[in-house]
Amino acid sequence: MSASTDTQRMEKIVSLCKRRGFIFQSSEIYGGLNGAWDYGPLGVELKRNLKNYWWRVMVHERDDVVGVDGAILTHPEVLKASGHVEGFSDPMIDCRTCKAHLRADQLVEKKGLKLCPNCGGKDFTEARQFNLMFETHVGAAADESSVAYLRPETAQSIFVQFKNILEVSRKKLPFGIAQIGKAFRNEINPRNFTFRSREFEQMELEYFCRPEQGMELLEYWREERLKFYDNVGISRANLHVLNVPDADRAFYSKGTYDIEYDFPFGRQELEGVAYRTDYDLSQHQKASGKSLDYFDEETKERIIPHVVEPSAGVDRTVLAMICEAYTEDEAPNDKGEMESRILLRFHPRMAPIKCAVFPLLKNKEPLVAKAKEVVLLLRPDMTVFYDESGAIGRRYRRQDEIGTPFGVTIDFETLGEKDPALRDTVTLRDRDSMKQQRVAIQDLPVILRERIR
Ligand code: ATP
Repeated sequence: MSASTDTQRMEKIVSLCKRRGFIFQSSEIYGGLNGAWDYGPLGVELKRNLKNYWWRVMVHERDDVVGVDGAILTHPEVLKASGHVEGFSDPMIDCRTCKAHLRADQLVEKKGLKLCPNCGGKDFTEARQFNLMFETHVGAAADESSVAYLRPETAQSIFVQFKNILEVSRKKLPFGIAQIGKAFRNEINPRNFTFRSREFEQMELEYFCRPEQGMELLEYWREERLKFYDNVGISRANLHVLNVPDADRAFYSKGTYDIEYDFPFGRQELEGVAYRTDYDLSQHQKASGKSLDYFDEETKERIIPHVVEPSAGVDRTVLAMICEAYTEDEAPNDKGEMESRILLRFHPRMAPIKCAVFPLLKNKEPLVAKAKEVVLLLRPDMTVFYDESGAIGRRYRRQDEIGTPFGVTIDFETLGEKDPALRDTVTLRDRDSMKQQRVAIQDLPVILRERIR
């Protein structure tokens, strides 16, 4: 952990997430299930916007990528062949003082001594390997023959379906197969809010290529993925690329970059971009006895394609977007006095609610009717929130706090009462600058669509 940590800031973010309905502890009324989280009404919108945007740029806007949606329950042979059954484990030790189970590489070091992060104890058991996969049984018999696993990554179903997808999509190398979905890891120590969970979502692309293209494509995908984060509002200044040293890389990988983000709790991985060579396809070909090769029409050769994998975490990126957006500044209240305000500066493309619509007064029927017309006008293109309760400044503040980028207010000018030239115009307020501009209602869809695309 190299960047500085900010515990107080993180506490405020966690509290805002609960208070406004982004993220709740799972099974909270029963004391909570450690490592599992539920996304509330705003969290689910934010998460969907992220996944939809990833799918748009990684699949829809490209000719060379197709999608898949694989099963979570996985045949044990798949995970034996991939190496997960044997090797997907973390070294675990127990603290003899407080009995905590700990990941051996997460002890606190002080003056050359390794200490328990919970109690400061120094007395530990020997390290033993703890497999992170969740095992279950399929069907009525709960014995060896019915074992299946919840997938620990989405990638394996892509490799296992490689031949089927190749045949139906008729793609030529290089091409990719993309997937977004849940993955499960029985992490020894879930922590840092959603950052390390036991149930989480991944967005993975397996980009297949000829062996000689691997290293170049590794660089290409690193750059593409950095651009992606910029486009969802995560500033380049808070991202870092770690060129993972030989000793820390999987033995089959010829190069891996970790894209890291400066979270308030330190610099941590958001995504791994790895050149995995032909390891996965070769392993599955060997273990299944089914050919997973590719016939190159030009050279008339059969090869096992190599693969470059950008693998991102949905939950980690959502958390990074929230951390990046969280801002405290000052804004005038209805009396013109400056007050502190909390706002989430989400990129408009990612914001859960795009536009809030307010009639200036709730007891003036023509204002309310006009505001409801505006809601109906905008709804086909975006998420809209209608709010008529409380002073207008308070209503703006509530929207700032959940990151709504635009606010539309219907006032007496809209009714043309003072100046007929202003009939059917509204004020459009920008969340970050708080500047307001007067625009015609009929222009709103075009103006806003452009900004949230
Ligand atoms: P870490 O070192 O943090 O455990 P990893 O290197 O094991 O992560 P990968 O196997 O490369 O992670 O998985 C790809 C991505 O999946 C990660 O970059 C991360 O965004 C996400 N991810 C992995 N484990 C978790 C988890 N326990 N909770 C949330 N997201 C995760």
